[in-house]
Amino acid sequence: MSTTPNSPEARDVAYHLHAYTNAKKHEEVGPLLIDRGEGVYVYDNHGKRYLEAMSGLWSVGLGFSEKRLVEAATRQMERLPYYHTFTHKGHNPVADLAEKLVTMAPVPMSKAFFTNSGSEAIDTALKMIWYRSNALGKPEKKKIIVRNRAYHGVTIAAAALTSLPANHNSFDLIVPDVIRLTAPHFYREGKPGETEEQFATRLAEELDAAIQAAGPDTVAAMFAEPLQGAGGVIVPPATYWEKIQAVLAKYDILLVADEVICGFGRTGSMFGCETFNLKPDMMALSKQISSSYIPASALLINKRVYGPIRERSGEIGTFGHGFTAGGHPVASAVSLETIRIIEEDGLVERAGEVGAKLQAGLRSLADHPLVGEVRGMALIAAIELVTDKEAKTALPTPGQLGAMVNANLQEAGIISRAMVDALAFCPPLIITEAQVEELVAGVRAALDKTYKELGA
Ligand code: PMP
Repeated sequence: MSTTPNSPEARDVAYHLHAYTNAKKHEEVGPLLIDRGEGVYVYDNHGKRYLEAMSGLWSVGLGFSEKRLVEAATRQMERLPYYHTFTHKGHNPVADLAEKLVTMAPVPMSKAFFTNSGSEAIDTALKMIWYRSNALGKPEKKKIIVRNRAYHGVTIAAAALTSLPANHNSFDLIVPDVIRLTAPHFYREGKPGETEEQFATRLAEELDAAIQAAGPDTVAAMFAEPLQGAGGVIVPPATYWEKIQAVLAKYDILLVADEVICGFGRTGSMFGCETFNLKPDMMALSKQISSSYIPASALLINKRVYGPIRERSGEIGTFGHGFTAGGHPVASAVSLETIRIIEEDGLVERAGEVGAKLQAGLRSLADHPLVGEVRGMALIAAIELVTDKEAKTALPTPGQLGAMVNANLQEAGIISRAMVDALAFCPPLIITEAQVEELVAGVRAALDKTYKELGA
């Protein structure tokens, strides 16, 4: 680690346990400390510039220097820096945001409930579902369906629904009754000779059989990202959602759309539910809702969910759930401003247009010897790295190839994220075509460099 004693880097190593980081390795390699941001770029403590091709954590939709968000936060800080939403109290920004979210939802929604992170929104959804089942006099209806590769967060309940090994390994999570099904990942899960349509049919049959096996009256809901993000940017095959939703409807099972990554323009529609024609009962929103300038998240619920909660809390006196900072006035004001900018600046259409360039550019790398598959839509994409295209295999240690290419990208001034051996790209919605070209050229160079290193 090339850090001087008492530098911010040295103090970081001394005092900071990082999220999602190999703690032991961190002591050797030290941190990359980011000092400032401008548009799609961030600059580290030494002045080196990076194209932030992940928007931080799939989240800074408006880029790193949107003054209108700073002004909205400042105005609200000066007027009312804090108030809560417990015991019938509230404030104007949260009332405005609730109205905005419910009225902009792509399917009829009834109410918005406010939280601070994606995990909290997902935990809240699970608690509401259990509360609802009890309210309906069906206490046995509590099981939840998720898919492999799902990412729904890291609080205990959300981590239980997440289906990535790192989120379970060594935590001894208290996992409620969760049914895990195949991810709609044709490249890895499709059988030889199977078409994408046959694959989608098979997964719907798997869902039907799993519900039958569990007992249809015991299954409450399916949680799903419209397009799976952290699990590898998995775009489901064309007829998948239509077939899955038909099975859920047959058994009266709720659908919770986890829009934490897809929401607010990422897939070329305002919501992933529009892109894939999902009709959810609940929608979890976060990340781009505030461009992540401040923590914010929300859960939208329809009448099927709100109705029983209304009746039950009326009977027992209160709906005993809520967070001190949920619906925070500054977060609400920044979220309203973010949504206003996305709408007024036409950033959803822009995500479609510039996103088409990103998809075409990355697909031009498909012939590279280290590229197994390029996938994605609009401004979210992944490159699955392999060393053997036929066998679809990478290096013997999973994640090693991903880490090599990712390190070469970072050295060249591009921040991506390795999801085992797939590289993710999720740039701010404001990225220009020239910056997309810069990104694609950088990825090509990093692939070439890694290929040479492997040969050596
Ligand atoms: N759901 C999805 C789809 C996510 O991608 C994430 C975070 N990457 C979460 C939930 C959890 O959000 P948070 O990290 O804010 O708790």
